[in-house]
Amino acid sequence: MSWKATILTLFPEMFPGPLGQSLAGKALEKGLWRCETRDLRPFGLGRHKSVDDTPFGGGAGMVMRPDVIDTALDSAAGAEDVPVVYLTPRGRPLTQPDIRRYVAGAGVTLLCGRYEGVDERVLQARAVEQVSIGDYVLSGGEPAALILLDACIRLLPGVMGSAESGEEESFSDGLLEYPHYTRPAEWQGRTVPEVLLSGNHAAIAAWRREQSETATRDRRPDLWAAYSARLNRNTTAGSPAAFRY
Ligand code: SAM
Repeated sequence: MSWKATILTLFPEMFPGPLGQSLAGKALEKGLWRCETRDLRPFGLGRHKSVDDTPFGGGAGMVMRPDVIDTALDSAAGAEDVPVVYLTPRGRPLTQPDIRRYVAGAGVTLLCGRYEGVDERVLQARAVEQVSIGDYVLSGGEPAALILLDACIRLLPGVMGSAESGEEESFSDGLLEYPHYTRPAEWQGRTVPEVLLSGNHAAIAAWRREQSETATRDRRPDLWAAYSARLNRNTTAGSPAAFRY
C-alpha cells in the first residue's frame, strides 16, 4: 500500500488542492501516495453539529472540543500506526528530519485547527505531535498541512526524477544550499562565478561548500550553531565529519 495522508479538517475540499498539480499531482495519479480527508463537521454535536465552544477562563474566539476531535481521530485510525500531527503555531518548528521521519513510515494523520485552536487535553491524551510551519499565525491548519505534505511527497520513492535531488539540498546536512546559476553565462552585466566554468570538480565542490557555510552563518545563526557544535563533537571524537561538498 502506498504512503497515506489522512487529513482531519473542517474544509475537506481544500485537499488535495495544489497537491493535485505538478510533481505531487502526478504522484497521486500514479498511486505513489494517497490522500484521504475526514470532515470534522459530522462529528460535531447537536442540531448544528458544533465542533467548538467558548474558552474556559474567558477571552476571544472559540476552541475545538476535545470529545469531537477524539471521535474523529478514532474514525481515522487505520491498521498502521502513523504519527498524528497537529499543525499549530504553538508547536516546535517543523524540520527536514521530521519530514524524513514521516516519509519513512506508512503515512501521517494531520489535524487542522481553526478558531483559537484545539482543546489541549485531547492533544495530550492522544500523544499528538504539535508542529509549527513558522512564526506567524494562519487562519487555519489546512495551508500548513499542505506544506507539510508537499515536503513529504517529493521525498517518496519514485516521485522525484533523480534520487540525488533529495539528498543535496538545503538542510540535508544541516546547512543551507549553495547558490545556483545557469545560462546565459553573462546576464545584464552579471557573470557566473569563474570556478563553476572551470570544469574542476574538486574546486567546484569546495566553492559550493564554502558558499553553503557562509549563507548558513549569515542567514541562519541557529543552524550554524548546531552545525558548528556537531563539527566540534566529530573533531573531538577523532572521526572526520562526513560532508558531501
Ligand atoms: N490561537 C492560536 C495561537 O495564537 O497560537 C492561533 C490559532 S489559528 C487562528 C487557527 C489554526 O491555524 C491553528 O489551530 C492551527 O491549526 C493553524 N495555524 C496557524 N498558524 C500556524 C502555524 N504557524 N503553523 C501551523 N499551523 C498554524
